[in-house]
Amino acid sequence: MEKICVAVRVRPPAPENGASLWKVEDNRISLHKSLDTPITTASHAFDHVFDESSTNASVYELLTKDIIHAAVEGFNGTAFAYGQTSSGKTFTMTGSETDPGIIRRSVRDVFERIHMISDREFLIRVSYMEIYNEEINDLLAVENQRLQIHEHLERGVFVAGLKEEIVSDAEQILKLIDSGEVNRHFGETNMNVHSSRSHTIFRMVIESRGKDNSSSDAIRVSVLNLVDLAGSERIAKTGAGGVRLQEGKYINKSLMILGNVINKLSDSTKLRAHIPYRDSKLTRILQPALGGNAKTCIICTIAPEEHHIEESKGTLQFASRAKRITNCAQVNEILTDAALLKRQKLEIEELRMKLQGSHAEVLEQEILNLSNQMLKYELECERLKTQLEEEKRKQKEQENCIKEQQMKIENLNNFVTNSDFKRNQSEDFIISRKTPDGLCNVNDTSDVPGTPCFKSTSRSFVVARSNNYSGLSDFSPMVHSLGDVADEDTWMKLNKGFVADLDQIQFTPAVKCQPTPLSIATTECPRENHSEVEDLKSRIQLLTNENDSLQVKFNEQVLLSNNLMQEMSELKQETLTVKEIPNRLSESVANCKDVYKDVIVTMKSLITDKESPTANLLLGTTEITTSLLATLETQFSMIMDGQKTGSSIDHPLSDHWETLRVNLKNTTTLLLSDAQAKDEFLNSHNKGQETAALEEKKLKSELIIIKERYNELENELCLDKQLLEASRESHEKLIKEVQFLKEERDSLDRKISQSTQRLRVIASDKENALKDLNVEVKRRKDMEEEIKHISIAFATRHKSFVSFHSEIKSKMQKLTTQNSKAP
Ligand code: ADP
Ligand code: MG
Repeated sequence: MEKICVAVRVRPPAPENGASLWKVEDNRISLHKSLDTPITTASHAFDHVFDESSTNASVYELLTKDIIHAAVEGFNGTAFAYGQTSSGKTFTMTGSETDPGIIRRSVRDVFERIHMISDREFLIRVSYMEIYNEEINDLLAVENQRLQIHEHLERGVFVAGLKEEIVSDAEQILKLIDSGEVNRHFGETNMNVHSSRSHTIFRMVIESRGKDNSSSDAIRVSVLNLVDLAGSERIAKTGAGGVRLQEGKYINKSLMILGNVINKLSDSTKLRAHIPYRDSKLTRILQPALGGNAKTCIICTIAPEEHHIEESKGTLQFASRAKRITNCAQVNEILTDAALLKRQKLEIEELRMKLQGSHAEVLEQEILNLSNQMLKYELECERLKTQLEEEKRKQKEQENCIKEQQMKIENLNNFVTNSDFKRNQSEDFIISRKTPDGLCNVNDTSDVPGTPCFKSTSRSFVVARSNNYSGLSDFSPMVHSLGDVADEDTWMKLNKGFVADLDQIQFTPAVKCQPTPLSIATTECPRENHSEVEDLKSRIQLLTNENDSLQVKFNEQVLLSNNLMQEMSELKQETLTVKEIPNRLSESVANCKDVYKDVIVTMKSLITDKESPTANLLLGTTEITTSLLATLETQFSMIMDGQKTGSSIDHPLSDHWETLRVNLKNTTTLLLSDAQAKDEFLNSHNKGQETAALEEKKLKSELIIIKERYNELENELCLDKQLLEASRESHEKLIKEVQFLKEERDSLDRKISQSTQRLRVIASDKENALKDLNVEVKRRKDMEEEIKHISIAFATRHKSFVSFHSEIKSKMQKLTTQNSKAP
């Protein structure tokens, strides 16, 4: 167990800001207003404190050198710079022309050290990445963006797809770092903002083994991380004066999580139950360096200006906490045969054995180069594998998408099947839906074309690591022997019969290709895809047919509705005719009235004595008849008014009518009996008066005529009443019928509008489905094209690998024959 080594470095103040506020004495630092009067009595002690006059050389010498040397010995090592923006982190890690920083010094030192160790052989790989906005980007390969962290039982935590370059000297690494710096700034408009908010991790993987020939010798593998962190200042500032808040958001998530991790690790009172390494990519990558299997040093940089005091205090607090963390570093030895270096060295040794005693220095060099090349191929294989996995993932997504699509279509179908209009056709449709091809093709992932499955061969590509080494990240996958590489048969199976015409193909790096035009791709589309697409097309055809039949139904409905309208208008005409009847009746009453008036006038002219009972009788009869006729007229006009307002015809006058009739009858009877009495009286008193008798006779006959006329009128009235009643009933019936027709028409209207709505929905759904289908087809074709290119590239590699293998073999044979000839 050992503590993390923590140092503080104060950078020189800017010339316009005068002297530093911080006083450094040995390994202590305290805050001074001027150099003599301390503001607070508190001073902090660390493993080292570097003042403004310190150099990167001294920082490296005192703080980092031991960790670098230990890394060469097989210990994991990490050095990182922490502090606010402009406090000197990059200056410390990268340095300047005249005073190189820790990274450059470490790289040189590693190789110097390796050259000093004569009994071991080394293999070095380097990678360079940045974490910006929680995204990992590869600085050695600008196309590798947004890389993912994966965890593997044997490999531990590793950044998938990160480029690792095998290097043979320090200059090569320094050139790589320079190119990485260029990539880092690529596309950024504001470099300062970007660089103060991104972390960069330079990583060296050092593998070594003893030079003696014992095959049981363990391989040592160590990882060295050199990290330049993002600026640690808080960004929340408020008010015109720019008062810095104690609280507020941290610049980025990973720094906050780093603080949390350090806090938890430094808190000795709590058991280390849960350390939130997984909360950020930075802490996940640095996990072994923090409270794990690594030798770690942190250099906390401070800006000495007065307006940076708050941040400087924060940095010192972070440093104090970090000082309490203990790590447990141990040499990482791998005993498994799968270790890359071990296997490779064995092969080289075998060759060397065969070369022994011969003049083979040049050949040995060549073999070394070939071995390096082989390693590169293997790394490339790994990268391709990751890419293929990514492709597989994409394909799966695509399949899900197609499934969704089908669900949509199915829902649509159900909707249509349930529709009232579809009753006749639903059965045919359901039968056609049950056709077995189509759907199952999509779900049957075994038939999905393209991506070859590497599951069966994957184990041979993974370097088996010992359990105590699980914290290490990112090692290249290895093949056990050349025989494990897919042979032609396996290749054929993996590629489902696809044979690349290798003579036609140039070597292509497995990067994304330009999509080829659709028409060409269609002809090369695998049969499964084709049938799937065909199936979808037929479904769309089915939907179109349904749509058409719905249209026909709709037209029929419209026709029916038109017929009904016609009928309704006829009925209306009839109603009008019925309405005319009371009019005609009232006209005939008026005629009767006129005739009656004439009769009365004639009768009046016949009566000479205005006071005679006959005259009175005539007067009474005239009054009653006039009243009767007036009542009739009123009633007809009422009926007509009722028709105009549309209210149902009621007969409030019916009773009155009856009373009038009775009254008339009574009066007439009374008048008649009165007349008879008068007659009798006249008979008894004026028997002799013949003229009077004659007149009386005449009057009597006239009265009888009136009575007859009255009876006729009454009958006519009765008939009119009946007619009126009948017309009223038929009118009511007609109104009801019209009402019913109206309702029917309304419901038809509603149905028509509903079916129009449905038609619209179906049409739009169909359109969407078609669009989605087109997009899917295009995506699928692009994917297939891509996969094809990858397969071709893979095949090319495989071929060159095989040829390389046979080349080595032939060389070996040549050497053997040379050897056997030599003595
Ligand atoms: P950071 O990476 O923390 O944001 P830099 O390393 O970019 O800060 O430093 C900011 C400026 O201060 C740079 O111009 C750098 O050259 C200068 N600087 C930092 N530390 C020192 C030092 N110890 N000696 C001289 N100059 C320094
Ligand atoms: Mg910086």
